[in-house]
Amino acid sequence: KPVIGVLALQGGVAEHLVALERSGAEARSVRRPEELAAVHGIVVPGGESTTMTRLLDTFELYEPLRERLAAGLPAYGSCAGMIMLAGEVVDEARDLPAVRPLGALDVVVRRNAFGRQVDSFETDLDFAGIPDGPVHAVFIRAPWVEKVGADVTVLATVPDDPDNTRRNDAAGRIVAVQQGPVLATAFHPELVGGDERVHRYFVQIVRAQ
Ligand code: GLN
Repeated sequence: KPVIGVLALQGGVAEHLVALERSGAEARSVRRPEELAAVHGIVVPGGESTTMTRLLDTFELYEPLRERLAAGLPAYGSCAGMIMLAGEVVDEARDLPAVRPLGALDVVVRRNAFGRQVDSFETDLDFAGIPDGPVHAVFIRAPWVEKVGADVTVLATVPDDPDNTRRNDAAGRIVAVQQGPVLATAFHPELVGGDERVHRYFVQIVRAQ
């Protein structure tokens, strides 16, 4: 069984642990450098990327994690986790404490991109590489991917909104990407109980390494 860690400094840790166990991995919380050293893959959960940046420093995990990612550790980030894995983060609010992303994905990510009116929305989307129909996607003050490098594959975009229930410019936005063994989604599959397809997809990536 692959051993997959969930960065457990802050945010939605428990749901990822459950989804990973259901997907055939041995899931472990990671809070210390020794725990990080023992995993074959890492999940960076949703939460708040400014807080996560600060806690990575406090727990002396920022450098060890950045180094393991640079050495090819498979990683999956959801929402704030996607922000943390990015190469560059943009944000309209200037007064917020900085997010220092880990640079595992050659993408520019915009924080809180879907705007105030639509802090949260849900939709079904097609996810390249995931069989058996669309994936239900829950977006909570979510980011989107604004720019992708040449080695990044786009796996999902926000579909059109025939009922016009959300901000119009959400349609077409990039919300799932992969670069080698690094996967990221702007949404939270771990919050959709009983559908572990995205986690299974990540466990396959870890197994393949
Ligand atoms: N808005 C949060 C951030 O910028 C992310 C929200 C989430 O992870 N659900 O870090």
